Amino acid sequence: MKIMVLGGDGYCGWATALYLSAKGHSVSIVDNYVRRQWDHELGAQTLTPILPLSDRLRTWTRLTGKVMDLFVGDVTDYDFLFNVVKQYEPEAIVHFAEQRSAPYSMIDRKHATFTQVNNVVGTLNVLFATRELVPDCHLIKLGTMGEYGTPNIDIEEGYINIEHNGRRDLLPYPKQPGSFYHLSKVHDSHNMIFACKIWGIRATDLNQGVVYGTMTDEIGLDEALINRLDYDEVFGTVLNRFCVQAAIGQPLTVYGKGGQTRGFLDIRDTVRCVELACLNPAAKGECRIYNQFTEQFSVLDLAKKVQEAGKDLGMKVEIDHIPDPRVEAEQHYYNAKHSKLLDLGLQPHLLSESLLDSLMNIAVKYRDRVDTTMMLPQVNWREPRNERRLHTSLAAGMSAGAAQAGETRVASGKEKKH
Ligand code: NAD
Repeated sequence: MKIMVLGGDGYCGWATALYLSAKGHSVSIVDNYVRRQWDHELGAQTLTPILPLSDRLRTWTRLTGKVMDLFVGDVTDYDFLFNVVKQYEPEAIVHFAEQRSAPYSMIDRKHATFTQVNNVVGTLNVLFATRELVPDCHLIKLGTMGEYGTPNIDIEEGYINIEHNGRRDLLPYPKQPGSFYHLSKVHDSHNMIFACKIWGIRATDLNQGVVYGTMTDEIGLDEALINRLDYDEVFGTVLNRFCVQAAIGQPLTVYGKGGQTRGFLDIRDTVRCVELACLNPAAKGECRIYNQFTEQFSVLDLAKKVQEAGKDLGMKVEIDHIPDPRVEAEQHYYNAKHSKLLDLGLQPHLLSESLLDSLMNIAVKYRDRVDTTMMLPQVNWREPRNERRLHTSLAAGMSAGAAQAGETRVASGKEKKH
């Protein structure tokens, strides 16, 4: 199948492009490298030393003989997107190319508007290019479980049967997103449902949980293919960050009580889910919604698992509860359905100590690259403007105590210790 991966230089996109190419699909990548620019803006870097995309692609071709086309450009630029879709004529478009950090979208007005314009306009452009050029192409778009929020009832896969005043209907599940980023995904979902309805586009919205891990079979082939692994307070996802904190001897920073419960999945399942969606396309005019995660955990559950795994590796791992910079329930009901991808054949890689060990070993391997001052939250949801200050740690492996000095930057709802 001819598959175009938008955002193929990113964390999920790179792993997916390699996997699909290894499976024999013809793959092209579109990316404007903006994720690498955000690292410069934030003063952060991925834990793992990723190579420029062109070098990664050359390595892939050298190792496997497979060639992936690369189109460098911005999906919010319609002329660019129109031309690459026209040239490549994909049968499936996998759309990862969005700003995906909730804290980034909550820094201030500029970052909120950037996030929504980048994400909503990008997805609208993809919908228009599909309609104009490749109307049979299947759009597989990454959404997030965060679109639903944390309702006090079970979360269905995209749609819910409602009976109201004696009448029934299958309606989009109510969305209660928790950041301007998550709102951008809700806007995307509405635009996709509408475009499918009016133009007969076929689409799958993958409401993905929080991804962990960095290694896939393909990435493991050569150090030059290594994937990014973000641990900083803005782009680092929780389990990846906890493993890095454990590896450098810093306490794990649990926000508030740590009862925040979410769906999680291994990056090896992300790539497989995308392939399953490609191989089983939505019908014309259908906007399918799948919940793409394999297990749910609370943040405190994860911290305790990392603590246990650390103990087995001879590390002493402490857990700190710090004020929650987000506006969210710290303890709540959570039960989200996730059977549709299993029905298509997904065989999940569940979080086990062996996975945690290997993730922590990666963190230990690259711990000299860790900037210990990047862990504590500086973006407070309650403030319309957050001044992020750069505190670089010159000495790699700075002590946990010194790192805690950065705590002056933590802003909580009630107190702001600037
Ligand atoms: P990422 O930031 O690592 O990758 C996104 C890629 O898209 C980057 O390479 C970036 O340069 C590119 N990009 C962004 N805007 C672009 C634009 N306008 N034009 C061209 N390229 C652009 O993010 P990720 O973690 O790989 O996430 C990929 C998708 O999966 C996102 O849509 C995200 O919302 C979703 N998702 C991720 C997670 C997770 O845990 N990582 C969880 C749920 C959903």
